[in-house]
Amino acid sequence: MTDQLPKKINLLGLTRVQFEQFMASIGEKPFRARQIMKWIHHYNLTDFEQMTDLGKVLRQKLAVIAEVRLPKVLFHHYSTDGTRKWVLDMGLGNAVEMVYIPEAKRATLCVSSQVGCSLDCDFCSTGKQGYQRDLSSAEIIAQVWIAQQSFMPIANMGMRPITNVVMMGMGEPLLNFEQLVPALEIMLDDLGYGIAKRRLTVSTSGVVPKIDALTDAIDVSLAISLHAPNDALRDQLVPINKKYPIKTLLAACQRYLDRYGSRRRITIEYVMLEQVNDSVMHANELVQLLSNLPCKINLIPFNPFPHTPYQRSSESRIAVFQQRLIDAGFTTTIRRTRGEDIDAACGQLVGQVQDRTRRQKDWQAVVLRQAASGESKHAS
Ligand code: SAH
Ligand code: SF4
Repeated sequence: MTDQLPKKINLLGLTRVQFEQFMASIGEKPFRARQIMKWIHHYNLTDFEQMTDLGKVLRQKLAVIAEVRLPKVLFHHYSTDGTRKWVLDMGLGNAVEMVYIPEAKRATLCVSSQVGCSLDCDFCSTGKQGYQRDLSSAEIIAQVWIAQQSFMPIANMGMRPITNVVMMGMGEPLLNFEQLVPALEIMLDDLGYGIAKRRLTVSTSGVVPKIDALTDAIDVSLAISLHAPNDALRDQLVPINKKYPIKTLLAACQRYLDRYGSRRRITIEYVMLEQVNDSVMHANELVQLLSNLPCKINLIPFNPFPHTPYQRSSESRIAVFQQRLIDAGFTTTIRRTRGEDIDAACGQLVGQVQDRTRRQKDWQAVVLRQAASGESKHAS
């Protein structure tokens, strides 16, 4: 894992302010930070020697104390539907995944925030693997960097290969708050990735104090993984509900909305589990519950994984559920499942740590096969 290398400062995860402070600390002007950020985040460069508007002395100084350090890409998969998935090595047999989903009018990168997750939602394969560790801001940004790099020819033509970022990969972003916020800042920054705030979404299962902290810290879009219309059912599906029940959660959502104005909408995510939370009765309860919350609802057909007791709701049950919500005046969409052939769908992301030895052998085999066939793969 890259963190075991001699400690040079990793410039990848520094916000503009942090970068300027770093440059000041080595006796350089703040504008140098802006120059270097562009090289890193716009041009995907990691080698100071290629940063041609920096003087030779500065380039050499930086090479001694700093670096742009990326995790290794263990492998990437391209789905037949255009979805791409990368598996990144996080050391000690850990891995995280990020997924790129192109659509007609946007292209969304789904980014991970932790290796595993401690919140143990019953229908989530990441939750079932447990928590391994938080990602650093550099490791979060590395996912955007690597995805963008794979589209460099397009990016060089002035097009934006990534228009939207959703923190909906592995992990609970708000439980990694200190690293999340700088990473979000870099995504929003024009010197970073220039993602519009409405197109940058943090999804949470409901860590209420951190929703308030996020509201105070940075203006991004908010998605809530609700999944149940009452506490009894939500306690089972999303255990953090026992600590922060629905009423408390919706109050935090309201505080977020109060802060960001009347036009803002929260996204409510609702996974569709056959015969568990998908009846008309549940839909009616949901309508009541959300009647005062400006929101749009996104129904997610459950994506099964090995040993799960749950099943995806049938299309007809999802359609009836959706219609009930629409009739009650809610904008309600169904998330189209993408990338299933490469296990890239929501909730199918696993850090591949459950059986580390076997997985490590699998990776080695894949890497060796790729090397033998001359197939390229990204690496730091
Ligand atoms: N921890 C955050 C973000 C990551 S999960 C959260 O829970 O919001 C991203 C979304 O995928 C969440 O709405 C989550 O509930 C959903 N999800 C998890 N497992 C799923 C599965 N097996 N099928 C469909 N959606 C799933
Ligand atoms: Fe964690 Fe989100 Fe999965 Fe729940 S749904 S276990 S919060 S990643």
